[in-house]
Amino acid sequence: MGLVMQAIEEMELAYQAFREITEQLLNDEKSTHSPAERVEVQSLFDTIFHAYQKLHRHHSHQKKEIISKTESINQTINAIFFVQLTLVLIAGMLVVVYFDRVVLKVFDMTENMALHDRLTGLYNRHVLDRIKSELGRSRENREKGYGLILLDIDHFKMFNDTYGHPAGDQLLKKMSELLLGAVRRQDKIIRFGGEEILIILFWVDISGVKKVAEKIRGSVEGTLFDLNDGKAPKNVTVSAGYASSTSDEGSFDDLLQLADTRLYDAKKSGRNRVAGPDM
Ligand code: GH3
Ligand code: MG
Ligand code: MG
Repeated sequence: MGLVMQAIEEMELAYQAFREITEQLLNDEKSTHSPAERVEVQSLFDTIFHAYQKLHRHHSHQKKEIISKTESINQTINAIFFVQLTLVLIAGMLVVVYFDRVVLKVFDMTENMALHDRLTGLYNRHVLDRIKSELGRSRENREKGYGLILLDIDHFKMFNDTYGHPAGDQLLKKMSELLLGAVRRQDKIIRFGGEEILIILFWVDISGVKKVAEKIRGSVEGTLFDLNDGKAPKNVTVSAGYASSTSDEGSFDDLLQLADTRLYDAKKSGRNRVAGPDM
């Protein structure tokens, strides 16, 4: 029981006791009070008691109202708290997801930069390990065959000496664009050395490799490269050695070695030509 209820009960008991004593005194035979006075005193006490009871009921009612209001405020506070908590959790998850995406993007960009040549945008030779292991893993790639074309610009040193190194750089860029347009999306073009470019063709036999090599040689020969220097466009030629897993024996590195030897043959036999096995 609460302190207030206890106090009220004590007061009620005191009132009853006091009323009894008053009644005895009023009813005493020796009392000088008239019966009307007695009734008046009793009704005075009753009025005080009933007024007090009314007041108590009113307080109880107020107390209940305050308790119910407090409960509803508590519920509102709880609801707000859960909404805020949910929002914080969602925001946290979004931050984590966004951060993950940023990290992946940065990782992708870094990896991309590490695998590409800055001047031409072609792959650099670091990508070779990846391609070799991809070829090793995929039986389909091995079975359907792949080809290598090793290409080198003819007399590029002389080109640089004549037109300047920046013109040579520009030529490398333009030639890379031409090569990218000459192969399929799945094929890979790698800047292998200074002006040596390796093209890897997937799912082709020897005749396909030879055709692409010859097509590229002819297309370089027939192109006037505009070097964006306000001067007359220039023409160059390339020589190439090629090898194919469908006609040459050995590993990727063996085929690369064969293509290199054949490139040397193409240079020796006059340049602006391709060398490799016939079909
Ligand atoms: P060959 O027909 O026998 O291939 O003769 P070449 O002059 O092309 O061969 P060589 O190997 O003697 O010279 C290659 C030249 O390529 C020398 C070098 O200055 C030039 N070179 C290599 N990388 C770059 C580059 O990034 N930019 C420019 N402008 N020139 C480069
Ligand atoms: Mg060269
Ligand atoms: Mg060279």
